[in-house]
Amino acid sequence: TSNTSYAPADRGILIVLSGPSGVGKGTVCKALRECASDIVYSVSATTRAPRQGEVEGVNYFFKSREQFQQLIEQDQMLEWAEYVGNYYGTPRKFVEDTLASGKDIILEIEVQGALKVKQKFPEGVFIFLLPPSLPELENRIVGRGTETEDVIRSRMSVAMEEIALMEHYDYAIVNDQVDLACSRIRSILVAERSRKDRM
Ligand code: 5GP
Repeated sequence: TSNTSYAPADRGILIVLSGPSGVGKGTVCKALRECASDIVYSVSATTRAPRQGEVEGVNYFFKSREQFQQLIEQDQMLEWAEYVGNYYGTPRKFVEDTLASGKDIILEIEVQGALKVKQKFPEGVFIFLLPPSLPELENRIVGRGTETEDVIRSRMSVAMEEIALMEHYDYAIVNDQVDLACSRIRSILVAERSRKDRM
């Protein structure tokens, strides 16, 4: 008789959810928090001013440019990127501790940062969220009502460049409906946890 037992890996899976601004990464991530409580969410640091209703330590850690610069110099950022005039970055320690504890963690970040994470964590799962169409993407950016016309224009041009980088990702999901996008991401995770090379 054999007493061989099989168990999944004791390290968590790093999931990167990325895609152009306005595609609904934030909305999908928020919905995931509600329907996938087994995933841990990474809270980013940013130099952007808080939007109405955003809470320190929940949506972001809000930093001055000097504070952010210091975090970079102290090597406390897993990745960071400058995006439409502000810095955004992922605190390194929280991600590493979460993975070491065996839990899966999701990073909701823009494309440059996602590609930097891929260099450090090639075993991560990289998911690209697409809008149903480009006019629909512009509608969503305008519809948020928080951005000036200049910001909308630069976000659209950044979005076009970002979509061109989709080839570096493992999965592409069209965000036509938030609950559908969510269930697709959950299915990806179930499949990824069963990969032979993670055992
Ligand atoms: P927003 O200002 O709309 O909250 O975010 C702008 C962009 O920055 C979004 O595409 C968002 O995903 C991205 N972002 C948020 N946090 C991070 C981060 O830690 N690193 C990087 N590279 N991008 C981030």
